[in-house]
Amino acid sequence: MFERTNPASGEKLEPIPEMDDAAVEAALARADATFRQWRTSALDERTALLARLGDLFEAEKERLAEIATREMGKTLKSSIAEVEKCAAAFRHYAKHGPEFLEQSDVVVSKGAARIRWLPLGPVLAVMPWNFPYWQVVRFMAPAIMAGNVGLLKHASITQGVAAALAEMVKKAGGPDGLFQNLAIKSGAVDKVISDDRVVAVTLTGSEGAGSKVAETAGRKLKKVVLELGGSDPFIVMPSADIDEAAKQAVTARIQNTGQSCICGKRMIVHSDVYDEFAAKFFDGMKAVKAGDPMDDGTDMGPLSSFEQRDTVLEQLDRMQKAGATLEFGGEKLDSPGAYLTAGVLTGVPRDADVAKEEVFGPIAMLFRVDDIDEAITLANDIPYGLGSSVWTSDAQEQERFERDIAAGMTAVNQMLSSTPEAPFGGVKLSGHGRELGPWGMHEFMNMKTVLMP
Ligand code: NAP
Repeated sequence: MFERTNPASGEKLEPIPEMDDAAVEAALARADATFRQWRTSALDERTALLARLGDLFEAEKERLAEIATREMGKTLKSSIAEVEKCAAAFRHYAKHGPEFLEQSDVVVSKGAARIRWLPLGPVLAVMPWNFPYWQVVRFMAPAIMAGNVGLLKHASITQGVAAALAEMVKKAGGPDGLFQNLAIKSGAVDKVISDDRVVAVTLTGSEGAGSKVAETAGRKLKKVVLELGGSDPFIVMPSADIDEAAKQAVTARIQNTGQSCICGKRMIVHSDVYDEFAAKFFDGMKAVKAGDPMDDGTDMGPLSSFEQRDTVLEQLDRMQKAGATLEFGGEKLDSPGAYLTAGVLTGVPRDADVAKEEVFGPIAMLFRVDDIDEAITLANDIPYGLGSSVWTSDAQEQERFERDIAAGMTAVNQMLSSTPEAPFGGVKLSGHGRELGPWGMHEFMNMKTVLMP
């Protein structure tokens, strides 16, 4: 059974039964059979299905959003925005999918050659709870377009969302077996990865889960895409618009109650503007309203679970023991939910292990640096390399950041966010491979070379 708790109230939600071995076997057989049909389906059939999914997500956004908010606590308005973003991703692949699949010519010394994009088969997606619709849809939409079929192992706490996703594909008229939810726990994942009918795996989640899944897939020589954690730098230089930078730094840090892989987590500020930025950033963080996620006036719901809040509190404790100062925040609310107020740490010792960890909660680390070299060194001094946000109007500084920050993504004078058109992914312990755009779709395709006389 999947036991579920609403983190906003502590109230138990109805448990969801786990699938047994026979049900998993039946799902794998269905995925295999469906792939044999779907791999040669007409592109029009795929785009029409994606367009219907876009319309259905839009039409049912309130219902879908409520399921996510009840299970993992994000504000209802942000759940609705997430479902809308999924609709946009379905529409993006419905519109551009056929061009992503076009064959292209290659100049060769003798005869002619071309590249064709062919699907691979059933792909397993192991997904996290933090953006429970978006993380899945950014895999699902290109997989459907590619001619692959999907199997979902969603996080234990978002099994209601998992069931809703599979239900939406059926409702849109997707063939049985095109996208199935495997209601299984993480202990049952190895067996699915090892099954010969599963050709590849994509995982979004923590480094620990990523390396475990990659190890199993590696033993069977299966392709893996990993979207893992991050501790993104948010760098502010003297030429930046400090008001805007401070405002966006607050949004970046507290979005999804600090539980986003690409949240700006480490604010790195040039000493010339440090005091001005810090004053504005502190005011903004102190004004963040934590509370009932169903309430439209709430900025930030609870953490996704009581365990997640304990993890953040334990990191906060280790930061302070290492010598950091908690300026304010990081407090539980007088309420039964898993709430934590937004907080800021200063004086975090740069070489402490805890300073290099990902803090998945609404606590920012604020650092002072004297020049761009120090900013880049500090930005890169973590095992992760997912995203980054840099604030400067100096073109040479922008170029340095773009070139020298070891991350998969750098946003200039804006908060980093994902968009269906652009590739998304990281380097170092943040994973490998890319999602979204044509790149995400091609990760799970056979790029076949065809040689002609
Ligand atoms: P998690 O514990 O790694 O869980 C992610 C998924 O992996 C869940 O479905 C989980 O199932 C499963 N899982 C965990 N251990 C496993 C194992 N040994 N074998 C197979 N599957 C396993 O991560 P989380 O706490 O849900 O999510 C937070 C992490 O995800 C953060 O580090 C965050 O930065 C990262 N993240 C990265 C991105 C990105 O795009 N780079 C996006 C969002 C989140 P159970 O729930 O059943 O354990």
